[in-house]
Amino acid sequence: MTMKGVPLLRVALLLLAGCASQGWNSGWAERLYVIPCGENHVKDLSRWTPGINAGQPHVFADHCYLVKHRDGWMLWDSGNPDRLAALPNGLTNPQNGITAYMRKPLAESLKEIGVAPADIKYFAMSHSHGDHSGNANLFASSTIFMQQPEYDALFGPQPQKYGFLPANFEALKGAKIVKLNGDHDVFGDGSVVIKSTPGHTPGHQSLLVRLQKTGPVLLTGDLVHLVYSWDNRVVPSFNYNVDQSLASIDAMKELAAKTGAKVWVNHDLGQSASIAKAPAYFE
Ligand SMILES: [Zn+2]
Repeated sequence: MTMKGVPLLRVALLLLAGCASQGWNSGWAERLYVIPCGENHVKDLSRWTPGINAGQPHVFADHCYLVKHRDGWMLWDSGNPDRLAALPNGLTNPQNGITAYMRKPLAESLKEIGVAPADIKYFAMSHSHGDHSGNANLFASSTIFMQQPEYDALFGPQPQKYGFLPANFEALKGAKIVKLNGDHDVFGDGSVVIKSTPGHTPGHQSLLVRLQKTGPVLLTGDLVHLVYSWDNRVVPSFNYNVDQSLASIDAMKELAAKTGAKVWVNHDLGQSASIAKAPAYFE
């Protein structure tokens, strides 16, 4: 080893350590499918954008996301319940002024891609609200990743207090649920990383997917409901913890800036129109 080589080696080792600590190993997900998973029509958008849009009706998109990795399939979020597909006028909850629709069952969309629910190796939801957990019971044979605070709220004595519907999780009681306390590298190669982003619910999480051609994509769940909300740090007043929500937005903005990730906002109908849907996919 020459005198000159030593510092270079040190620099290289430091760089390697830096990559490992950020979860930036060499892996890529092979494909990302964006699946329409319902629509939610609301009477008053201002519940989601406090201070503006009072009395404005709005249509929120709803998506599920399917990741193909060489080591298996992962499903992120499960949308509105498939049974709503039988209700052309949707299902209205008079209490919160939301009418939920499911135009095409998730099971059918998966089938078109050639995937059965039993093929889903890993299943995770951004959080446990009804428009993300509608079909969770289909994935009882998957390994499920959930933040510990979300698990405690969901399977604790008062799930309704957090807006969770226990019936959506009936089949998961005996399932393999891996409880997380923070971020998690799903396939161990940095290609798909769950990011802890609490606030909307106690254990809300987001997903960073690295694709070779498309680049990194950040799936934000209900961290924000609109691109407008992402740009302006706006969250619903009914969030579990508003301060925590804003801190999570700031952390994800930093991550997106650092990685150059595209930010896909689950419920933004306008943005959704510009994103190709399954059976098309991103790679
Ligand atoms: Zn939600």
